[in-house]
Amino acid sequence: MLVMVRPMYRTRFIRKVFRRTPGGRTVIHFERRKKSPMRCGRCGAILSGVPVDERDRKRLPRTSKRPQRMFGGVLCPRCLAEVIKSMVRGKLGV
Ligand SMILES: [Zn+2]
Repeated sequence: MLVMVRPMYRTRFIRKVFRRTPGGRTVIHFERRKKSPMRCGRCGAILSGVPVDERDRKRLPRTSKRPQRMFGGVLCPRCLAEVIKSMVRGKLGV
């Protein structure tokens, strides 16, 4: 059955779920897709300290959105340590 849905539901961010009602009808429910967690830009590890929910990312203060260090919310701590070490090594010419 083809149904013209409200414009707000005509987006790929919203998932169609077919549910069987007690009366035997099949109805379409619209659900938001789950957001994927933020990942490290270098190794792809899941970043902790960064909210997964998009609304939390918008609503929270800036200091609650990612760790308060350089490349916080971009690189994982292990990659950051490696990057810093490589930068220091480059400066010293070792
Ligand atoms: Zn990493």
